[in-house]
Amino acid sequence: MKKIVVAIDGFSSCGKSTIAKQLAKEFGYIYVDTGAMYRAVSLFCLQKGWLTASGKVDEEALKQQISNIDIAFKTNAEGVQETYLNGKNVEKEIRTLEVANGASIISTIGFVRKELVRQQQLMGQQKGIVMDGRDIGTVVFPTAELKIFVTAQPEVRAHRRHKELEEKGISESFDAVLANVKERDERDQTRKESPLRQASDALLLDNSNLNKEQQMEIVRQWFLERTQI
Ligand code: C5P
Repeated sequence: MKKIVVAIDGFSSCGKSTIAKQLAKEFGYIYVDTGAMYRAVSLFCLQKGWLTASGKVDEEALKQQISNIDIAFKTNAEGVQETYLNGKNVEKEIRTLEVANGASIISTIGFVRKELVRQQQLMGQQKGIVMDGRDIGTVVFPTAELKIFVTAQPEVRAHRRHKELEEKGISESFDAVLANVKERDERDQTRKESPLRQASDALLLDNSNLNKEQQMEIVRQWFLERTQI
């Protein structure tokens, strides 16, 4: 079977990571959650006081330290991939709305994107990788063999994210989650640096009315069509 690069892009909370993780598991591919990398940088800035609640970033301080921010992924005993920031497991901390909002802000900064894209390209050199994010098919791997652009209605996405946060013991109102989803959509689509858009050769997957198995059937088919040549 031919080894390929799978690029999965789309809006916040539309289930990109669920698809990416499942596909990687089924076919023995490496999974990379690039959103977690932006979230880790956001957490780092919040901890240093370089990112305020009003969204102001100390870009000079961040620029000085960007190459000293070490982000890694490790699989835990249950087989779940977790994010490490400078050697510390931050998987739970990076999932809060505060960190998500910070990630959406720092991801508009050119030198942050440049550094994280460089690291992502290194991870995909050997192929056999499924990467999800906002710019994977357009910037990180423009020649990826399979590109998928995932979308769903904002209310559907906010409902899913709200449930997911509850399950992780993070308490937020539905309205706050919906507002966060819409705000991040707007910022992702309108930023100057690598705005979120569907690559011209990406396949569109609207999963508003699909369950997990239905969407996996579609994605599996697309994957097999591209690997069995
Ligand atoms: O996907 P996730 O919600 O974890 O991503 C957090 C934030 O990081 C997003 O709101 C988006 O602004 C940013 N991001 C990005 N490019 C990526 C992945 C995430 O700009 N490749």
